[in-house]
Amino acid sequence: MINSLKNLRRSHYSKEITPELNGEEVRVMGWTHEIRDLGGIIFVLLRDRDGLIQVTAPSKKIESEIFEELRKLKKESVISVKGKIQESNKAPNGVELLPVEITILNESKQPLPLDPTEKVKAEIDTRLDSRFLDLRKPGVNGIFKIKSVILNSARNFFIENDFIEINTPKLVASATEGGTELFPITYFEREAFLGQSPQLYKQMMMSAGFDKVFEIAQIFRAEEHDTLRHLNEAISIDMEASFLNQHDVMEYLEKMIIKISVDVKEKCGSELDALEHDLKIPTETFPKVDYADLVDMVNSKGVNMRYGEDLSRAAEKAMGELMDGFYFITGWPQEIKPFYVLPEDEHPEISQAFDLMYKDLEISSGATRVHQYDLLVKQIKDKGLNPESFETYLAAFEYGMPPHAGWGVGADRLTMVLTGVQNIRETVLFPRDRRRLTP
Ligand code: ATP
Ligand code: MG
Repeated sequence: MINSLKNLRRSHYSKEITPELNGEEVRVMGWTHEIRDLGGIIFVLLRDRDGLIQVTAPSKKIESEIFEELRKLKKESVISVKGKIQESNKAPNGVELLPVEITILNESKQPLPLDPTEKVKAEIDTRLDSRFLDLRKPGVNGIFKIKSVILNSARNFFIENDFIEINTPKLVASATEGGTELFPITYFEREAFLGQSPQLYKQMMMSAGFDKVFEIAQIFRAEEHDTLRHLNEAISIDMEASFLNQHDVMEYLEKMIIKISVDVKEKCGSELDALEHDLKIPTETFPKVDYADLVDMVNSKGVNMRYGEDLSRAAEKAMGELMDGFYFITGWPQEIKPFYVLPEDEHPEISQAFDLMYKDLEISSGATRVHQYDLLVKQIKDKGLNPESFETYLAAFEYGMPPHAGWGVGADRLTMVLTGVQNIRETVLFPRDRRRLTP
């Protein structure tokens, strides 16, 4: 084992080593994925971020010192191997390395709490307990390569469309929607909360004259859920835009979802393969289902839903059976939407709010917002909330707030859709749920 890297540097990632490089000498670095000792020949699979490369060591062809080093290797130790490339139709990528130098950079303790080769399948809790090992699995780390593309693609989409990226506070004095779903914290001598949504701040940015803003950041929800689609800490992709209404921002949402899907399909082919997920690019103009029709559709599936109710889990599932892919729900009753949602001019009992769904999963909620101070105060009171706790937010509406609209997309839920995984915990490095606060 060595103390420091000195002049050892990787020359190639495993996937860059192709049969065309036959005969060349390269240095690879990574983890000992698998060791097969057949006596006269030892095979070591070295795994790096991008894949596997086989190191083949026939005792007759290599120095005995190297042979003995390989024989002593432990699973998941970190190694550096310098070797000569040989074509081989039996090895991954059609190449293997004949080792000329091996350096153990760090030895792994045995036994392993989790097997990254996935020969032994582990339960999600065991996997999350040893997440750093779990993330070494190609299929698992593929999810995060895809998530990285999703977040980058969203950011590029907004920049291309002339949005300004903002960062709003996550330490807040009061609730967004006045609910009880907040994590209280001690803020010096006062109580404060972790932000459940950038909603109020992004709206204030409309009054600040920014016109089009977006934020990609954490949201915190103290809901006692124990489902496959809720976490207590999630990532929200939020936007808000002035001089536009719900229909304009739905168009932005649809375009962003399509662009992200195209980018993931284009850049993450091998990751999608590893996940065995056949990602279909959604076509333009997602269907729009009016809430009143949705109630009938849900009932037609034998699930009881009355007009005026939010979608129960059973109702979502019924819709999931009827709808294939993305669709909007529009025309929600005003009563079940938050106070900042603008009602229809002619039918104030109907809101200008929408949800974006993927089958049975809610991906986004959005709306045209109330921009009139008096109406906003009234709607806050109608929800049984005290306008005084919204004083600084309300002030932004008294001095020239433009009409505006916006939405928030759950980035983790979108990652579920684009990777095909069923449990939201799979899409978060270190998920936070009702029972889990570590690692
Ligand atoms: P749900 O009804 O599914 O609990 P919601 O209506 O409470 O969601 P919103 O407040 O509308 O959620 O938040 C906007 C988006 O943020 C949601 O559509 C979803 O994609 C995501 N989101 C909200 N809460 C969570 C959560 N607890 N975990 C993961 N994502 C969430
Ligand atoms: Mg919602």
